[in-house]
Amino acid sequence: MPELPEVETTRRGLAPHLVNQRIRGVVVRNHALRLPVPRGLEKKIAGSTIQNVERRGKYLLIDCGRGTLIIHLGMSGRLWLVAPSAAVAKHDHFDLVLENGRIVRLRDPRRFGLVLWQPRGAKEHALLASIGPEPLSADFGGEWLHSVTRKRSAAIKNVLMDSHVVAGVGNIYASEALFRARINPKLAANRIGRARYDLLAEKIRETLEAALVAGGSTLRDYVGGDGQAGYFQNEHFVYGRAREPCRVCGAAIRELRQGQRSTFYCPVCQRR
Ligand SMILES: [Zn+2]
Repeated sequence: MPELPEVETTRRGLAPHLVNQRIRGVVVRNHALRLPVPRGLEKKIAGSTIQNVERRGKYLLIDCGRGTLIIHLGMSGRLWLVAPSAAVAKHDHFDLVLENGRIVRLRDPRRFGLVLWQPRGAKEHALLASIGPEPLSADFGGEWLHSVTRKRSAAIKNVLMDSHVVAGVGNIYASEALFRARINPKLAANRIGRARYDLLAEKIRETLEAALVAGGSTLRDYVGGDGQAGYFQNEHFVYGRAREPCRVCGAAIRELRQGQRSTFYCPVCQRR
């Protein structure tokens, strides 16, 4: 599932090819994404020029001047640039067609993604307004994590995955950051002190930045190609490594279920 680094890498891959391009129109092959793709989108968007491509949490914001196209990749979405002649595959639900003929294509087999239109003030859209601080921004740090968790007795792993607490951190990077900070994923959030939250905030940043560096090598895959870009394999410490030896201490990595999601951790390095 795409998390902040995958979405940010998609943004970096596409932005240079989109900014200042005029939009010819859209092709909606399937309106039934997580929310319906708005009817009449073509009328609203055709003829406008892309001003900017931004990201908020896991949402991509394509600023078209008169409004913003909001795209979320859901569980399985990929967004990349194709030539006009590129064959359309089964799950290619949405195309944004540029005046130069190139197409920004959304492929989403599980259809949990979103394509929405916000006339103005995209960041005030109901889905975006309450998202917590960007983890790579100065607004985010141990002080923030400590203050928002004082009354939360839920497990820290689940709290980290709450987008109101921090933007864009999902299952993979929550597990990885907790490992790097040596914090047990089951620990109640309000039982973690300020010093450990300072460390955790630093490790969240470190984990995301390492993933962005790995993603950087895939940037050219966002232009042309076959839509396979966007899910880079990182050298995870714990994620997806159940029963394999911990890279630090050699103990067997454990898997547990938290909020219907798999958490991976080292029982030795993350004892408390
Ligand atoms: Zn270990």
